[in-house]
Amino acid sequence: MALKADAQERRQMWIARLLARPSRQFEWRSYFLFGCAILLAVLLAGASFNAHRSSQDLSAVREREVHSLDVLLAADELRMAALQQVRGERGYLLTGDASLLDPFVEGRDAAGKSFARLIELTADNPEQQQRLLDMRDEFGAFNTVLDAVIAQQKSGRREDAIFYIQRGNDKDALEAVLHEIDALADAERALLLERGELADLRAVSNERLQYVLASIGVLFLLLTAVTILFLRRSLARGRGLENELERVSATDALTSLPNRQKFTDALTRAISVAETNPKQKFALAIFDVDHFKRINDRCGHEAGDEVIREVGSRAMQALREQDFVGRISGEEFAVLLPGADLEKAHLVCERMRAAIAGRPVTWDNRIIPFTASFGVAEFRTGDDIDHIMVRADTALYEAKVGGRNQVRLAA
Ligand code: GH3
Ligand code: MG
Ligand code: MG
Repeated sequence: MALKADAQERRQMWIARLLARPSRQFEWRSYFLFGCAILLAVLLAGASFNAHRSSQDLSAVREREVHSLDVLLAADELRMAALQQVRGERGYLLTGDASLLDPFVEGRDAAGKSFARLIELTADNPEQQQRLLDMRDEFGAFNTVLDAVIAQQKSGRREDAIFYIQRGNDKDALEAVLHEIDALADAERALLLERGELADLRAVSNERLQYVLASIGVLFLLLTAVTILFLRRSLARGRGLENELERVSATDALTSLPNRQKFTDALTRAISVAETNPKQKFALAIFDVDHFKRINDRCGHEAGDEVIREVGSRAMQALREQDFVGRISGEEFAVLLPGADLEKAHLVCERMRAAIAGRPVTWDNRIIPFTASFGVAEFRTGDDIDHIMVRADTALYEAKVGGRNQVRLAA
C-alpha cells in the first residue's frame, strides 16, 4: 500500500516536471512571437514610409519637369519675340511703311513679358539667374541697335540705317541674344536630364528597399507561423498533461476509484444541484469492511490490500451507471446515489453488500472471507457535507453495533 502511494506520488511529480518544461518553452516562444509581431509592425511602418517617400519623390520630379518645360517654353517665346522685333525693323527699313513697326512693338512687349516670366521661374536657380542678367545686357545692346536703325529711318537718314544693317550690327546683336537664350535652354535641359536620372536612381533604390523589406517580412511571417504551430502543440501537450495530472491526483492508487478529495467534490456538486432543484434528490451511503484489522493481522497487509481492491471492484459492479463510488479512507468507501430515495438506496446497498460478502478472496493459499456494513442517508434541504456525512456515519455505526454485514438507514 505504501509502495503504491509512493509510485503514485512519483508519477505526479514526473507529470508536474513535464508540465513545467513545456511551460518554460511556451514562455520563450511567446516572447519570440511578441518580438516577431513588433518587428513585423516596424517593417510594415518602414515599407509604408518608403512607399510614401517614393510617391513624394515622383511627384517632386513631375513638378520639376513641368517647371523646366515652362522655362523652355518661356525661352522659346523670348526667341520668337526677338526675331519678331528684327522682322518688324527690317520690314520698316525696306518699305518705309510705318505700319510694319507694329510687329516690332509687339515683339518688344512679348520679349519683356517672357523675360519677366523667366526671372520668376528661375528664382530658385542662381546659375540661370546669372544667365538672365547676362541676357539682359545683350538685350539692352540689341534694343539700342534696333532703336538706332529705326530712328535713322524715321529721320530720313535711310542710307545710314542701311549701312548699319550692312555692317551686320543688328544681326550680331540678335545672335548674341539668341546665344544667351540657347545657353539658358541648354542648361535647363541638362538640369531636366540630371533630375530625371537622379529620380530613376532613387526609384530603383526605393524598389530594392521595398523588396528587401517585403522579403524580411515574409521570413518573419514564416517564423511567426512556425512559432504559433509550436505554441499550439505546447499548449495541447500542457493541457493533456494537466488532465493526466488531475486524473492521477484524483484517483486512489490501490483501487483506481476516485479518492476522498474527488468524492467530496462530487458530493459538494450534488448538494448545490439539489439545493437549487428539489427534484434532484440523492442519497449517500458509507460502507466499511468489517473486522478489517483482523484480516491485516492474520493474513498480512498485502492480503488486506487485496481485500480492499476486491471490495472496491465488487461495489463498482453492483452499482447503477449513474452512481459514484470513491474510497474515502483505509477500508471505508462512500457512494453517491443520484435520484435515489432511502428505499431505492437501500436496495442498491443491499445488492452491494451481498456482492461483497458473496465469496471470499484467496491470497497466498489462504481463503479470506470478508463482509462490509453500510449506513445510508438521504439528502435533506439545508444539508451541508458534514450534516449528511454524520447521518450516514451514524447509520453505519448502528450497522456495526447491530452485528455488521448489514445496511442501516439514517433516521
Ligand atoms: P470494524 O468492523 O469496526 O470496522 O473493525 P475494523 O477492524 O475494520 O476497524 P477499522 O475500520 O477501524 O480498521 C481499519 C484498519 O484498516 C486500520 C488500518 O490498519 C487498516 N488500514 C487502513 N488503510 C489500509 C490499507 O490501505 N491497507 C491495509 N491493508 N490496511 C489498511
Ligand atoms: Mg474503518
Ligand atoms: Mg472496518
